[in-house]
Amino acid sequence: MSENTEYSFFGDVCKSFDKAAKFTKWDKGILEQIKACNAVFRMRFPVKMDDGRIEVIEAYRVQHSHHKAPCKGGIRFAAEVNQDEVMALASLMTYKCAIVNVPFGGAKGGIKINPRKYSAYELEKITRRYTSELVKKNFIGPGTDVPAPDYGTGEREMAWIVDTYTTLKPGEIDGLGCVTGKPITQGGVRGRREATGMGVFFGVREVCSNDDVMKNLGLTTGILGKKVIVQGLGNVGYHSGIYFQDAGAKIVGIAEYEGAIYNPEGMDVDEVFQHRKSTGSILNFPGAQNIEKSTAALEMECDILIPAALENVINEENANRIKAKIIGEAANGPITPEADEILNAKGTLVIPDMFLNAGGVTVSYFEWLKNLSHVRYGRLEKRFTENLNSHILSQMEVLSGKQVSPSEREFIMHGPDEISLVHSGLEETMISATREVMETWKSHHNIPDMRTAAYVVAINKVATSYAELGIFP
Ligand code: NAD
Repeated sequence: MSENTEYSFFGDVCKSFDKAAKFTKWDKGILEQIKACNAVFRMRFPVKMDDGRIEVIEAYRVQHSHHKAPCKGGIRFAAEVNQDEVMALASLMTYKCAIVNVPFGGAKGGIKINPRKYSAYELEKITRRYTSELVKKNFIGPGTDVPAPDYGTGEREMAWIVDTYTTLKPGEIDGLGCVTGKPITQGGVRGRREATGMGVFFGVREVCSNDDVMKNLGLTTGILGKKVIVQGLGNVGYHSGIYFQDAGAKIVGIAEYEGAIYNPEGMDVDEVFQHRKSTGSILNFPGAQNIEKSTAALEMECDILIPAALENVINEENANRIKAKIIGEAANGPITPEADEILNAKGTLVIPDMFLNAGGVTVSYFEWLKNLSHVRYGRLEKRFTENLNSHILSQMEVLSGKQVSPSEREFIMHGPDEISLVHSGLEETMISATREVMETWKSHHNIPDMRTAAYVVAINKVATSYAELGIFP
């Protein structure tokens, strides 16, 4: 529970869990074990600030589930961090990892600070001290618990964490795998930055390729020509928009905090991004209509809406006015439970955040594997495959007496490098996860929506794992 309010985010997650658990056959005790947070580490430590003051920092690391090792989940720097929130986010990580078959338990960390109020040096000291506290209690390590970025943290903080960890654990051969989301020079993997937006695209595309689902929504199959509105032109929103556009969708609306723009003929996401970079705002983009009230863009005419900014943006107040037939939850929690009910009742298809934005953790898993194997993806096979492809192609050309075009030649010859392997691993993961959730939804007539179906998939996987593990007497 949060200290100052009755509302419990963790309580909400448990409610959704209970709603879905009714569609499973697991023993009550196993369900209770899955729901519970296994370990909560609440810490306070002193840090000397630039002006000589000593500040006591409040921080958390919650390991929700140990059904797989290690645990995995981001670290958030935000003034609102509290134990209830970290517990909720840790439990969502367990379910998210289970759905996309990433073999980790869920975890989450949080430091209760507004990072904008601290200098880079102060943030470094806070991050390094937090890491030392985690090391002291065995709450971090490539085989125990592997953090990643979240709100307010990024590659820089992950580099501080891995440096502190490897300094305190000299000679630990897999030490680089203690955290993911690192810069490439510090053991990061190519493809992490665009992973979540790309995963959102793959998930939505998979739904749109299902004839029955699209027919029910009154839409044609496929992404081509679909009208898309994106809220948030940050990491996730920008990359989602780019992939939709490349697949032939029309980006008709883009919303940012300063306002929104709309053009029924479509807009180029990169041009909007550059326009915002040079003018400081997305408004006044050539050919587009300005919308002063940013949230009004969510209610404009489109087929697919991608909220990729904040939580609770679609709520009881505006849910009825949403025109999109499909909402792809790129952000975490953009739809309130009340809005969810309204949208379900009017037949809007909500593709839930729980797996749709799992691209980040999926590629984090690839980064961890890279760290454990101590070799860049593709390093061993790239040239071998290119030589083989070249040989096969020249033999075919000799035998057929015809030659392929230069662009086809380039495509066929291309051996696997890190970025291609990461992208294709992500595509495979998102397609399989989306199909599994959709099949579960369709095979139980009473499951009301895709979110509940996603929970059912997660519960079944975690419960199977517990059942197969056996539980210690
Ligand atoms: P980001 O900070 O890069 O982008 C967020 C964007 O939203 C910014 O451009 C910001 O200006 C814009 N924004 C802020 N307030 C707004 C408002 N009121 N209306 C419209 N736009 C507004 O963050 P991000 O990494 O893209 O994350 C976005 C969401 O996706 C968050 O909910 C996050 O939890 C979720 N998510 C991110 C990842 C990831 O890998 N980055 C993974 C899973 C989930």
